[in-house]
Amino acid sequence: MSGAPKAGIVVVGSLNADLTIYTDRLPKPGETVHGNGFAVNPGGKSANQAVAASKLGGQVTLIGAVGEDPNGTMLLDSTASAGVDVSRVLRADVATGVAVISVDASGENSIIISAGANGTLTPADVEPAAFSDAAVVCLCLEVGIDTVVAAAQAGHDAGATVLLNLSPYAEVPEELAGLSDVLLVNAHEASLFLGSEADIPDAEAGAGAWEPVRSQFADRGLQRVLVTLGAQGSVVLDSLAHGAEDQITRIAPTRVTAVDTTGAGDAFTGAVAARLAAGDSLAHAAAFASVAAALAATKKGTQAAYPSAAEVEELRG
Ligand code: ADP
Repeated sequence: MSGAPKAGIVVVGSLNADLTIYTDRLPKPGETVHGNGFAVNPGGKSANQAVAASKLGGQVTLIGAVGEDPNGTMLLDSTASAGVDVSRVLRADVATGVAVISVDASGENSIIISAGANGTLTPADVEPAAFSDAAVVCLCLEVGIDTVVAAAQAGHDAGATVLLNLSPYAEVPEELAGLSDVLLVNAHEASLFLGSEADIPDAEAGAGAWEPVRSQFADRGLQRVLVTLGAQGSVVLDSLAHGAEDQITRIAPTRVTAVDTTGAGDAFTGAVAARLAAGDSLAHAAAFASVAAALAATKKGTQAAYPSAAEVEELRG
């Protein structure tokens, strides 16, 4: 075999219009509070991840579906203008997916999603030809699980690294876990996945505290896991690393003044995809992603807040 190694990234999943209202504090159930700003922005976990990876230099193809409506056009324009190949994004005869987001003064958010066109994406839309140049396939759980499994299978068959962001959390079939080379979860998703016995260590915990978590993931067939911890950074659990000391790597947080953490996890995931496709180790990819996601949290919105590789390198110093 000759030729350059594959470097493409195929992202399969959701595109949503983010309807965001900014408020001092989030309302309690039954309560009405005043907002102090409203914006409609392109979003959806997969669109965000695709844009994040593309802005960081990845060659990204997005597979998904939007409606024949202005939100759909906005999403195609925003992803395409970030350099993403959108020729495989379908236009369905239902409304584009939306996410209704509230963000409080501390940058904390709450989100409700209506899947719309994302729900029309089927396994048949996941064409193997799209994966021929894939080094990394990036998946989340905002489209039907059968479609996610089909994409994982296509990525696996193409020899790509399958990166599964288990978000928003749902139970997944064993088959999907088996096809996933790297699992990416926040602390909440990690404890839901492992079950009630799982204690996710706090920010200051050392490698010893993470060892049982690594081992529980490995027992479930997940050898390589990234756990994000919000402002506290992240942890790489790599059961395939040779020495025990390399199996758990703590990635220190990047200290920033967060304005809006919406989509920070997607920036992290897209950045991991971009760096894995470029040939980085998992720990190096996570360290880079930590800076990219922190930068994303310093600006309002999601895709427009995502940094370039040069901006990440500048902050890394
Ligand atoms: P999610 O948004 O999926 O819940 P996290 O909250 O764990 O995920 O955030 C994902 C990543 O984004 C973190 O691991 C971290 O690198 C970065 N991040 C999130 N919030 C902040 C913050 N306030 N300051 C710095 N980095 C942050």
